[in-house]
Amino acid sequence: MIAHHPGEELLIAYAAGASDEAVSLIVATHIALCPDCRREVRHAENAGGALLEDMEPAPLPETAVAAAMSRLNGAEATPARRAGARNGFRAPEPLRSYLGGDLDSLRWIPVAKGISYRPILKRGRSNAQLVRSTPGHGISLHTHKGEEHSLVLTGGYSDPTGHYLRGDVQTATPDIVHHPVADEGEDCIILAVADAPLAFRNPFVGLLAKLMGY
Ligand SMILES: [Zn+2]
Repeated sequence: MIAHHPGEELLIAYAAGASDEAVSLIVATHIALCPDCRREVRHAENAGGALLEDMEPAPLPETAVAAAMSRLNGAEATPARRAGARNGFRAPEPLRSYLGGDLDSLRWIPVAKGISYRPILKRGRSNAQLVRSTPGHGISLHTHKGEEHSLVLTGGYSDPTGHYLRGDVQTATPDIVHHPVADEGEDCIILAVADAPLAFRNPFVGLLAKLMGY
């Protein structure tokens, strides 16, 4: 059972195609694992469609139809973005396509004792990466300059706000200072999406993180 879901505004922005690529990736990966949010997104998409139907039609320039037709003719079929949750992959689509495989085939970059990471994408201020913690380890105490979203893919972790397991999403804001610690047992791998670099309390750790490109 998934206990922690993305905020409604994230789901609505995703359904409207208004979220940036890194945020879309984490929402799409969550809804591959979460039937409840999949339903929410479908409702939001339907509501958006109904809204469009109610709008007064605006006249189109004559070239618009020809341009749309030529785009359709050259279009390739887009792969289903919500497959994957049912076929046992630990990285469901669309995350798996970004990684070029499942989690077991990845090369990890060590960043601190018990912590390694794997960059996925960076677009301007926002970025997505995987962070892997061995049991009992976690990212050093930090706050956030912007919003950071974490989705658990394997294992679990705890911080003062709660306990997070596969499929759970945590959104951390600049007012949260936390030190997440991975559960005993399996390594904890999270998909982390940030819209600004983390702000570490310990300047040395901050410098180290910067040098490692984290
Ligand atoms: Zn959900």
